[in-house]
Amino acid sequence: MPEHHIETPLFCPKCRKRTRLLERLWSTKTGNYVYVYKCQCGELIWED
Ligand SMILES: [Zn+2]
Repeated sequence: MPEHHIETPLFCPKCRKRTRLLERLWSTKTGNYVYVYKCQCGELIWED
């Protein structure tokens, strides 16, 4: 569930550092929230 993602952010695939939750978007395709994480290197990671 959503809280899980906020408490355990993803790691950046480029620099392997922890990413920060940037925003939560509603996806009409999946009918669920899509979480967008941003790393300090500028990499954006989307997880739905
Ligand atoms: Zn990074």
